[in-house]
Amino acid sequence: MGSDTEDAASSLHLLATHYREHPQTGPSERRAPSVNPGAPLNLGILDRLEQCVDEVVEHARADAGDSLGPLPPRVRDVYDWWTDSTADASPEVRLRRDIVIYRQGLENAIRLGEHKRIRTHPCPGCHTWGLQWEPHRQKALCLNRKCRDRNGMARTWSLARLATQYVTEQESRISRAT
Ligand SMILES: [Zn+2]
Repeated sequence: MGSDTEDAASSLHLLATHYREHPQTGPSERRAPSVNPGAPLNLGILDRLEQCVDEVVEHARADAGDSLGPLPPRVRDVYDWWTDSTADASPEVRLRRDIVIYRQGLENAIRLGEHKRIRTHPCPGCHTWGLQWEPHRQKALCLNRKCRDRNGMARTWSLARLATQYVTEQESRISRAT
């Protein structure tokens, strides 16, 4: 298991732990007035966990078909489960899988407030380091003044785009090295 998958699994685990430790933010009491000001982070955690697992299961089923084993009991093990069940899949399938896992890890890190994780990625447009997370837009913003879109606006990137760039570059680095 790669360290990126471990990072993604630990983010998922943190979310699950957070949910267990703050059950008052569960679906039935979501609108409770007693929710503390720090709660926006907690809202929808259960939905989020389900969404992550559902996405993994859907892909794993499509990728592995009949050879797919039962879903692991611990939520953090779903990435390993998917990775193990697609170990012999085509490079394209494995690449897409790694991108999804990495993207979920990024999304969950952001949810956990680790906005700095964005800074470990160069801008896909100008390749400089200076991305900043924009919570309102849910996108990474490039702070390089010369990096503009067609309308002259600062360029923004989705987490999916950053994940694709990161994983693709990792892959090509590995294949160059071997
Ligand atoms: Zn840029």
